[in-house]
Amino acid sequence: MKTYTVHTTCPDCGTQQEQTHTAQGMEQRYGSGDKATATCPQCIKEYEYEMRTACLEWDEACQMQTSRRG
Ligand SMILES: [Zn+2]
Repeated sequence: MKTYTVHTTCPDCGTQQEQTHTAQGMEQRYGSGDKATATCPQCIKEYEYEMRTACLEWDEACQMQTSRRG
């Protein structure tokens, strides 16, 4: 099954996180929004990031879906 890896970096302390989801998991967790939020495990701060930089593959998959819907 195809999986997508979301890679984020805390803007505050630079702690990196990686989460892998299936397409179904991505849909549930992120939908097709361009932005999402993550909580830093180090400083416990919530930060917003752009899906395009965190997981380009998912961003592109969403764009394809959007254009198919018209
Ligand atoms: Zn942090």
